[in-house]
Amino acid sequence: MSTKYIFVTGGVTSSLGKGIICASLGKLLEARGLKVTIQKLDPYINVDPGTMNPYEHGEVYVTDDGAETDLDLGHYERFLGVSTSQKNNVTTGRIYFDVIKKEREGKYLGKTVQVIPHITDEIKSRVLELGETGDQDIVIVEVGGTVGDIEGLPYIEAMRQLRYDVGKQNTLSIHLTLVPYLKAAGELKTKPTQHSVKTIYEIGLQPDILVCRAEVPLDLGIRRKIAQFCNVEVEDVIASIDAESIYEVPFMMLDEGLDTQVIKKLGLKCDEKPDLKSWKKFVDAIKNPSKTIKIGLVGKYVEHHDAYISIVEALIHAGAVNECKVSIEWVQSDEVTQENVHKKLGELHGILVAPGFGHRGIEGKIVSVRYAREQNIPFFGICLGMQCAVVEFARNVMGWKDANSTEFDPETPYPVIDVMPDQRDQLETGGTMRLGLYECSLRPKTKAAEAYKESKINERHRHRFELNNELRDEMEKGGLILSGVNPDRNLVEIVEIKEHPWFVGVQFHPELMSKVVKPHALFVQFVKAASKINKKG
Ligand code: GLN
Repeated sequence: MSTKYIFVTGGVTSSLGKGIICASLGKLLEARGLKVTIQKLDPYINVDPGTMNPYEHGEVYVTDDGAETDLDLGHYERFLGVSTSQKNNVTTGRIYFDVIKKEREGKYLGKTVQVIPHITDEIKSRVLELGETGDQDIVIVEVGGTVGDIEGLPYIEAMRQLRYDVGKQNTLSIHLTLVPYLKAAGELKTKPTQHSVKTIYEIGLQPDILVCRAEVPLDLGIRRKIAQFCNVEVEDVIASIDAESIYEVPFMMLDEGLDTQVIKKLGLKCDEKPDLKSWKKFVDAIKNPSKTIKIGLVGKYVEHHDAYISIVEALIHAGAVNECKVSIEWVQSDEVTQENVHKKLGELHGILVAPGFGHRGIEGKIVSVRYAREQNIPFFGICLGMQCAVVEFARNVMGWKDANSTEFDPETPYPVIDVMPDQRDQLETGGTMRLGLYECSLRPKTKAAEAYKESKINERHRHRFELNNELRDEMEKGGLILSGVNPDRNLVEIVEIKEHPWFVGVQFHPELMSKVVKPHALFVQFVKAASKINKKG
């Protein structure tokens, strides 16, 4: 079977949940035995989201191969259970970057370089390349932005051409749109959808299926009206009603027949029914928890929950395994002080100190670590959270006054977190982060080894600073357990402390690897430890 391409565009407004629809469709097709991958095309000019402010763009999702990508790739991985790579996220910046590089190298042989055909050819080659990689049955291509945006035009044009290039029978166009409910009129309105479909028609792409986001169910009359005015069959009008949990969306799409319409239209040969047994078990578990626990997420971007989306999802996955609902209490790190810490964190079953960059909120994070350590509250420190745990240990257990990370105090007398000597030259040339998958050897009989049940693991990284090897032996003698070390560069990856219900800090980002079908072992153990803590109220 030749690779089939499904293009998913969005109309009317942003934030309709295109990523979740793509991931849900991917899940349904994968559950019928097909090999599926999903690609996100982002119309912005940044080469990747790595340099964007988390308030602006949410979390930066890092892949195995160290690409800094859009957070939708996290949804794809969590739903499909497969790894994505640099190839799964393309931005306008990257396309132009490569086209201009080729032009400078004389690769266009003196031609005038233009949006059509050079930019559109570059876009198409990225889509086709992903299809050819790993023999995919299906590539779902999510086109970011909203139809009608100027910057989205080359992408839609590239999709239009691709339909011709690979054959119409091998492609499908799905358009996600909004059907608003007007309370005053007591009616669902189809006009925005009609206009959106008209706009996409004008640029040459005809939707085969319409997925209609709505707050209330669509009756047959509305479906007929949309079908008639948008040139699709009634069965091709799929309703996507607001869901309580994103993990219910695959079942909603199954009930609406999205996958059956896709299979029919593309002539796919696959299992008659999707196997969703483990998915169902997971959804049942999150819908029927036997208790609720409160986990404090201490971070500096807490007003914008998307900045921590993989952590939030990993906690949901771990909650399902432990039959409990994890309720996240968002704690702004720069508001935590030694005076108010009990008031802010006293009712929590677990404390997670989040990753981050920059000075703001550091002292609040360190106070939070101390509270977790002294009050025996399960603690999980991720990346910067782990670095804060080391600083706290140095200051309050080792008695090293003013110990710090050189990221925040370059003159500290105890630089317990620092840039390692072999990285220092790189720092001047930029592009200095340690990104992607690295190995870590675990020390037996530690919390980490207990959780993973393995002696070697691989985890994804995104950081610059490290636990300082020059001060490490002394801290180890002082009681800091170094339970995970990268064997190639001898870098500390995991720290723990003794005589505490669960206190683990990791230099990597375990949240990026948690999947619905395979929740992350450290999150599972953290939530388990938290669920054993008794709190009043
Ligand atoms: N700012 C820290 C570093 O660069 C931590 C980064 C992070 O939490 N992702 O090492």
